[in-house]
Amino acid sequence: MKYLAPSTVEEAAGLLAADPGSQVFAGATDLVPQMRAGRPAPSTLVDLKKIERLVSVSSSDSGWVIGAATPNVRLTENDALSAEMPGLVEAAGLIGSDQVQSRSSLGGNLCNASPAADSVPAMVVNGARAVIVSDSGTRTIPVEEVTTGPGQTSLAPGEFVVEFEIDHPPANTGDAYLRLIPRTEMDIAVVGAGARVTLDANGQCTAATIALGAVAPTVVRVPDAEAALVGSNLDEAALEAAAEAARAACNPIDDKRGTIAYRTHVAGVLTRRAITIASERAARTNGGA
Ligand SMILES: Cc1cc2nc3c(=O)[nH]c(=O)nc-3n(C[C@H](O)[C@H](O)[C@H](O)COP(=O)(O)OP(=O)(O)OC[C@H]3O[C@@H](n4cnc5c(N)ncnc54)[C@H](O)[C@@H]3O)c2cc1C
Repeated sequence: MKYLAPSTVEEAAGLLAADPGSQVFAGATDLVPQMRAGRPAPSTLVDLKKIERLVSVSSSDSGWVIGAATPNVRLTENDALSAEMPGLVEAAGLIGSDQVQSRSSLGGNLCNASPAADSVPAMVVNGARAVIVSDSGTRTIPVEEVTTGPGQTSLAPGEFVVEFEIDHPPANTGDAYLRLIPRTEMDIAVVGAGARVTLDANGQCTAATIALGAVAPTVVRVPDAEAALVGSNLDEAALEAAAEAARAACNPIDDKRGTIAYRTHVAGVLTRRAITIASERAARTNGGA
């Protein structure tokens, strides 16, 4: 097996195009355990972490750009990002131990395509876009269009995610991500729920986004929950309607972490709680725009 560490995006794209058996990696916190478990190793491993653009985090008038291979610890230590999107940062901060945090990335979390990936619902509710590059060009798609099933992505051979673009949230917007795991830490989500809400001066909800993880083969947006919240004051009836929509959107598996009935019930509970936290944050903030 060859190990290559390009220093530019163009060089990485060229290496991937030259060897169809090659595979990119960032922290390798999914890749190495999978190879040790017997998954066939690629002929060439292309390390993305030596490319400055892939490990950079920046904010400008047009929004945030987060390099796809940026170690999660650089997100949790970024006070400006935490102030604007605390839910996204908390989701990144849930991934593994301190050691895992210092290596793992949003790009790896997304492209590993686990239905339970913690950062994905949080990226989706914040409208994150993935910038995808290959030898033949660049395209930008919503994060929810990257995964197509467990372990499957819409990336073509030779394509990789360079960075995530996220607009500054509008004023009076808050986000939140909650997950349930069977242990206190270092486990895979039974259910994950992301929420983002925007309030007007009277506390009425003017925009909402809800996304669930670990309840279907890919992350699930819940438009019926979003519709139930918009125009309401996030009162009991609206929260219950959103929870009911979240339960209805679930198509989970039965496994040792939870039955279908349990996962479906928890999806409703976490959706309500995430909306409540997001709305408390929205009421306190003027957003980053
Ligand atoms: C002890 C432990 C605890 C963990 N806890 C959690 C947890 O709580 N929550 C959670 O969600 N995950 C958890 N994980 C899984 C893992 O840490 C995360 O999914 C992490 O974000 C993966 O990032 P990475 O950079 O290490 O990915 P890598 O292992 O480098 O890559 C993962 C996959 O994505 C591909 N890939 C990586 N970067 C790109 C890119 N830029 N473009 C295209 N493809 C790419 C690789 O080819 C590979 O197939 C845990 C793992 C361990 C070992």
